Amino acid sequence: MILGVPKEIKTHEYRVGMVPAAVKEVVSHGHSVYIETQAGSGIGFSDQDYIDAGAQILPTAAEVFSESEMIVKVKEPQAIERTMLREGQILFTYLHLAPDSAQTEDLIRSKAICIAYETVTDKHGRLPLLAPMSEVAGRMSIQAGAFALEKSRGGRGMLLGGVPGVEPAKVVIIGGGVVGNNAAQMALGLQADVVILDRNIDVLRQLDVQFNGKLKTVYSTNDAIERHVLEADLVIGGVLVVGATAPKLVSAEMIKKMKPGAAIVDVAIDQGGCVATSHPTTHDNPTYIVDEVVHYCVANMPGAVARTSTVALNNATLPYIVELANNGYQQALQNNPHLLNGLNVYRGHITCKNVAQALDLPY
Ligand code: NAD
Repeated sequence: MILGVPKEIKTHEYRVGMVPAAVKEVVSHGHSVYIETQAGSGIGFSDQDYIDAGAQILPTAAEVFSESEMIVKVKEPQAIERTMLREGQILFTYLHLAPDSAQTEDLIRSKAICIAYETVTDKHGRLPLLAPMSEVAGRMSIQAGAFALEKSRGGRGMLLGGVPGVEPAKVVIIGGGVVGNNAAQMALGLQADVVILDRNIDVLRQLDVQFNGKLKTVYSTNDAIERHVLEADLVIGGVLVVGATAPKLVSAEMIKKMKPGAAIVDVAIDQGGCVATSHPTTHDNPTYIVDEVVHYCVANMPGAVARTSTVALNNATLPYIVELANNGYQQALQNNPHLLNGLNVYRGHITCKNVAQALDLPY
């Protein structure tokens, strides 16, 4: 199969659909890969790196689209890219179609075969191509929180781990899934005092075993959230209710009663946020202050560490890319029901129930 990787064109997007190591793997299976020139240059992958891995470099996105049977990307195709898609071409990328009727209509019109990373499942019912970005955001949330606690950002002027003779900061993590677990690992690594709340008792059991008493697990009720948030120096919001906007677990009244200079990193902001006073921010201006509490609410945290995020994403997508290339889409989708769950638009028809329902379109 011929695969094509265009340079991402969304503002401040430096990630790339395939890293050179992924190209090498695919080429070793007998496939060809076209890379748009400079596609990985923003994160240190030069055209020469791709040539060394066995790719061919093309000067424009238009040529990559016209020469390739499968397009591998990171972000949803932008309007100009959608005009380059053609009937029967495979598109493998994040799509997030439910809130995006313009994109959905263009993908239907293209008659391409559009497989979305975010709806591919695994045998545990999890979303393996979303997990790497939650790992990145979870780990990054502690870095962002440490920064927000500095005086220059309006924070309490507190070091997460303290120093010998000085107490560490109290980090309260709401939600013990992928984000929460990774945040806990980083916070404990910095020797903070960590409490993690979840309403799934099995998640708490797992955390208890994994961290072997190094953190406290607490069943999440309104009362427990209030008690711990009011004692917190740093709160991490990492809850998810699948298919719904995030529940507002930290109220405006709680924010008023928090310690002055405490910080909140609301990772769940991409689903509306779990803090009443959260609103989305950008990497250019990531924090703002409400009632003396520093809020960090960047909706695309992994974009700031695009190199790590790209490699993490590729590690997860590569087996599916190889499956699609080796078997062709028909066989690959027939063989693997989890990959089939990723199929959102097929030759002019919506094949994902949630997308059809959200946009009131036929399924
Ligand atoms: P996950 O499903 O692995 O974990 C979510 C956890 O929240 C689950 O364990 C669930 O039991 C728990 N939960 C649900 N309701 C709760 C409640 N009332 N109290 C306490 N816990 C509750 O999800 P994840 O992959 O960790 O993602 C978490 C959030 O982070 C999602 O909203 C996701 O979209 C977001 N996210 C944001 C970014 C970003 O850049 N801002 C990046 C990646 C993920």
